[in-house]
Formats: sequence, C-alpha cells, structure tokens
Amino acid sequence: MIGRLFGVASQRVPSLLYRVSLMMKPQVVFVLGGPGAGKGTQCSRIVEGYGYTHLSAGDLLREERAREGSEFGQLIANYIKEGKIVPVEITINLLRKAMEETMQKDEKKFRFLIDGFPRNEDNLQGWNSSMEGKADVKFVLFFDCGNEVCINRCLERGKSSGRTDDNRESLEKRIQTYLQSTRPIIDLYEKLGKVRTVDASRSVDEVFADVKIILDKEG
Ligand code: ADP
Ligand code: AMP
Repeated sequence: MIGRLFGVASQRVPSLLYRVSLMMKPQVVFVLGGPGAGKGTQCSRIVEGYGYTHLSAGDLLREERAREGSEFGQLIANYIKEGKIVPVEITINLLRKAMEETMQKDEKKFRFLIDGFPRNEDNLQGWNSSMEGKADVKFVLFFDCGNEVCINRCLERGKSSGRTDDNRESLEKRIQTYLQSTRPIIDLYEKLGKVRTVDASRSVDEVFADVKIILDKEG
C-alpha cells in the first residue's frame, strides 16, 4: 500500500533527481585576472546584456564567512585576509550549490560566469574531479591588467568596500598569489586555445567593447 502510494506520488511529483537530469548541462565561462582587474565590474555588464548568471568565488566565500553557524567562517576569514586560496572543497561546494539553485529556480539559466576560479592547481583539480562531464567550460575570459593598476584600483575600492583585504599589505600578498598560482592556470588554458584575453587597463567602456566582441562571437 505504502509502496503504491509512493509510486503514485512519484508519478505526480517528478523527483529532484529526475528534474535535474532534464536540465541543460551548465555552460561555464571562467573569468580570471588580477585582484582589481575589473572582473566583477565587467561581469555585471555581461549579465545585463547576455543571459549569464554571475557567480563570484570571492563573493560566495564572503557570504559563507558571514553565515551564522558556518563551520568554515573563521578559516575563510583568515585565508581572505592573508590573500591565500581557500581549500577547494569549500569553494567547489559553494559554486555547485549556487549553480544548482539557479537552475532549479529557472532551468533556462544554465549559463554561468564563474569569476575568480580556478585560481590555482588545487582549484583546477577539484573542478576536474567533481565537475568533469557535469558542466562544459566554454572558455576563459582573461582580464589582463598591470599589477600597479590593479593595486591602485583596489586601494580606491577599499575606501568604501569595507573589505578586509583591500589594503596594501593584503594586496601585496594577493598579487603574489595571483602571479604564482593563477597565472600558471591561465597559461595552461592558453595552451589548450581556450583563453580570450582583454586589455583591462583601459576604461570600463573600452574593456566592455572588447568583451562584447568576444561574447557576440562565442555566445
Ligand atoms: P575585481 O572583481 O577584478 O577584483 P572590480 O570589478 O571589483 O575588480 O574592480 C575593482 C575596482 O576598480 C572597483 O572599484 C571598480 O569600480 C574599479 N574598476 C573596474 N574596472 C575599471 C576600469 N576599467 N577602469 C577604472 N576602474 C575600474
Ligand atoms: P576576490 O573577491 O576574487 O578578490 O577574492 C578575494 C579572496 O577570496 C581571495 O584573495 C581568496 O582568499 C578568496 N578566494 C576567492 N576566490 C577563490 C578561489 N577560487 N579559491 C580559493 N579562495 C578564493
């Protein structure tokens, strides 16, 4: 009887697994560049004009840091202040959850800008082992910008951002982390012909004009 009841119920209410299996595979653009290169600024523009959802690894980690009862709050806070890269399991889980929630709310929202990821070898391996076959990485959008310009933009942003890492001491560390850990990942994708580079040292409008050319061509 109970079995029959469940059978009837499951015919009426398709299981979550069934609904997820009907969804489009997420289409992902990784967005990389130094701290302050303008990734977030350009992603907001892209979201307005193209049907993408913007997921910033840094924003998701800051939200998790602030979430009451989070077991990782203090750990994340320490890593961010030191400009270090948070262990991949935490970041991937946040990204995966955000993608699933977005697609469950609206199955047409399957295109994602993942900003600030993969930031190092550990991120890349974590992605490959848990997301391989479950999402397509279309290309890497690389905002190329000199370190001094990046630092000055973040110091300017720091006047109002309230971020614990928009200060010179944290920025020096963030730039080192970027050069040592993230650049090699960009180089790796470059060898696969998957990097689309934009000169991000120019004005927001000039940078976006180039971004549009890329997106109009590649979707
Ligand atoms: P990221 O996400 O790469 O850390 P943001 O998009 O937050 O960078 O930009 C960092 C700061 O620089 C922000 O205060 C933003 O308003 C400013 N900014 C972004 N792009 C430009 C640009 N092309 N020219 C000048 N300032 C910019
Ligand atoms: P962002 O907002 O992109 O400038 O990132 C701010 C900080 O969040 C970084 O300096 C890291 O400490 C952390 N962070 C952001 N993205 C990642 C990531 N992909 N993996 C681990 N830590 C990250």
